[in-house]
Amino acid sequence: MSKTEKIMTIDEKLSLTKLTTDKNYEHITVNQEICRKCKTFDCVYACPANCYKFSEGEEVDSPIIFDYAPCLECGSCRIVCPHGSVDWHYPKGGFGVEYKNS
Ligand code: SF4
Ligand code: SF4
Repeated sequence: MSKTEKIMTIDEKLSLTKLTTDKNYEHITVNQEICRKCKTFDCVYACPANCYKFSEGEEVDSPIIFDYAPCLECGSCRIVCPHGSVDWHYPKGGFGVEYKNS
């Protein structure tokens, strides 16, 4: 990278992605029964796309809500959940995230 090249923010990098959501297939699901007992919330802190959120906004430790639509397919939630709650698959062909260089 040259000295004059601008370092992009995370938001700027995320704006380069194109998402095509499959409304008929949730490629990731979580087991809410397991999540209700969770005390660690690793998914909330690991997901770069805010797919996992506390249900009461900023209130940490409130039950989580999950939305697969903004998923960037990074795989972090699958790895960090220590309780086996995440059932993870890639989206079907033609759906999901598309990364562009610039
Ligand atoms: S997905 Fe895993 S880490 Fe996240 S709330 Fe559920 S059990 Fe906890
Ligand atoms: S795969 Fe990555 S972007 Fe998608 S829900 Fe999991 S942590 Fe979030």
